[in-house]
Amino acid sequence: MEVHVQLLTASKIFCSCSTRFGDPPNTNVCPVCLGMPGALPVLNRKAVEFGALAAMALNCRVNETSIFARKNYFYPDLPKGYQISQYDKPLAEHGFIEIDIPGGKKRIGITRLHLEEDAGKSLHEGFPNDAAKTAIDLNRTGVPLAEIVSEPDMRSPEEAYQYLTRLKEIILYTGVSDCNMEEGSLRCDANISVRLRGAREFGTKTEIKNVNSFRFIKQALEYEIERQIGVIEGGEKITQETRLYNANEGRTYGMRSKEQAHDYRYFPEPDLLPLVVDEKWQAQIRAGLPELPAARRERMVKEYSITAADAHTLTSTRVLADQFESAARAARNPKRVANLVQSELMGRLKAHALEMEQSPISMAGIAASANLVESGAISGKMLKDLYDLCFERGKDFPVVYEEEGRPQQSRDTSALEKLADELIAANPKQVEQYRAGKKTMISFFVGQIMKASKGQANPQLVSEVLTKKLED
Ligand SMILES: [Zn+2]
Repeated sequence: MEVHVQLLTASKIFCSCSTRFGDPPNTNVCPVCLGMPGALPVLNRKAVEFGALAAMALNCRVNETSIFARKNYFYPDLPKGYQISQYDKPLAEHGFIEIDIPGGKKRIGITRLHLEEDAGKSLHEGFPNDAAKTAIDLNRTGVPLAEIVSEPDMRSPEEAYQYLTRLKEIILYTGVSDCNMEEGSLRCDANISVRLRGAREFGTKTEIKNVNSFRFIKQALEYEIERQIGVIEGGEKITQETRLYNANEGRTYGMRSKEQAHDYRYFPEPDLLPLVVDEKWQAQIRAGLPELPAARRERMVKEYSITAADAHTLTSTRVLADQFESAARAARNPKRVANLVQSELMGRLKAHALEMEQSPISMAGIAASANLVESGAISGKMLKDLYDLCFERGKDFPVVYEEEGRPQQSRDTSALEKLADELIAANPKQVEQYRAGKKTMISFFVGQIMKASKGQANPQLVSEVLTKKLED
């Protein structure tokens, strides 16, 4: 996998032009990013720090010295005729990501993370005479990218999907990129080959480019594996080439045969000094590393007694995990918040085919509802009904609770008193023990009544009624 993430710096990697997305075409440009003769690049310090932070989060070793190199090729959206990238001395190397596989974990090696500049964009529509012409927008030229290249350690489309999901999650946690695939701030190319089971050598690979969702990458890989097997079993050879995936048709198409690395005629960029990120600077960058998703999941499983699967969902973004934890900590009973998320929220989200971010009930709403159950104001059954209404109306819990007139569970004690009387009459021994001072016996009576009411009674009210009867 080769993943490009756009680093969230305010300005470009070698000039002070803005990196803002969506500005009018060719407004964020200057002689440097337009590639004018004689213009000199100046490296953006923040881009280096963001790249190094991402590398550390991916368990890479950051090289003290790395070298920028020119990658020469001609393309209409590349005005200089070369891209400044890094070649044999990248910013960072030798990292890994752990993914979950059936029965355990698997480590996927990360070969390298290097810095480079983005190219511009060719536009094929949205301007006068666009049927006959192509337009160039150079706003994106020189936007900083980190390219993350994995080792060939993945053995199935599912593992590739897992890898990308974990990678995106980690990058998002570091905050160095928004990983927005629609805006192109995360792009990935997948290299894929097949071989006979037990074979040592990899087969000839093809590269699938420009797929804009992880789900489509998985589908493209599934298709490509079948296609390659078909070619080989038909007695032909795989051509090393770049292929495009058409999501509508669910198949890949050959685009061009892959250039060999030496075709780019890489050489050290003469206009930039070697990049030195010394120990002191590395330590400063490392101090900015947040708690990463894997560690956070482990801690949350312990702290809130939630399942590993739910911890995965709750830590899928840093914002969500922060919201959950602040709600859980603000609530009277953190575990109840976790339980509600697990038992009441997840199921409803699944039933409505919604992602966590699309939930009508916020984490603060869940905390509010948990407190209402905790205080005995509403019953578990009422909470379920209110949650259903939230999903029906697409509104948060506090809103629906107000709309419903702040319902309270019945404090009518006549039915409870009848139950309590029967219970006391039927258990003289326990009553005697209670009256002799064994006050903990109350939980036996409360338990019996809760059972008789199928969990619908308000435990606090039950306890009040019983205490009154038993003390008489
Ligand atoms: Zn510029």
